[in-house]
Amino acid sequence: MPDVFLASRNAKKLEEMERILAPLVPGVRVLGLDDVTAYDEPVEDQPDFAGNALLKARAGVVATGLPSVADDSGLCVDALNGMPGVLSARWSGPPKSDQRNNELLLAQMSDVPDERRGAHFACAVAFCHPDGAGGMAERVVHGRMEGRILREVRGSGGFGYDVLFAAEGYDVTTAELSREDKDAISHRGKALREIAPQVSDVLSGS
Ligand code: IMP
Repeated sequence: MPDVFLASRNAKKLEEMERILAPLVPGVRVLGLDDVTAYDEPVEDQPDFAGNALLKARAGVVATGLPSVADDSGLCVDALNGMPGVLSARWSGPPKSDQRNNELLLAQMSDVPDERRGAHFACAVAFCHPDGAGGMAERVVHGRMEGRILREVRGSGGFGYDVLFAAEGYDVTTAELSREDKDAISHRGKALREIAPQVSDVLSGS
């Protein structure tokens, strides 16, 4: 079974992707950015998650020659008209900081009543690989997790906005869930489980 390249700079996200994908693609060896020769990573300038995920996965194939998987994801808050969306990672400005992003979210939502605190995490996962004829094959899948924004941070697991997000049907944040429980319901878990059979087929050459 050959290698698959996961094109992400976000160590926590990479960890999640690897632990979800690896058991579904038997024998796979997962490589991250630190395992390959450094290359110029694309600027994530697309208006949607799918566009940015494709940019990252395509650049991964061009740089490494390996089948490449990339995720682009974010938090979409109803009361903020879907913001921060594709800007989630850098919402409070450079340098990227989860803590400042969460402080900004709390401030933006301070006057929003409980019944209007709905939000969802969205994720696009792109899988690109050389098609054997000099071109590139590509596919994008989507995942989504519904929930709401709490009024104070809770929990120490996960990353990003997990400390402020309770999934539908839960009274705890996704930062308080076990890894397995988050993966079972998360946007990333759903998308990666959908793409895994194709990754497996491509890597095994079937
Ligand atoms: P990306 O690397 O541009 O896709 O940035 C995704 C950003 O969205 C992260 O930095 C987080 O702020 C947020 N995000 C995406 N998925 C999650 C998640 O599962 N939990 C918490 N925050 C997330």
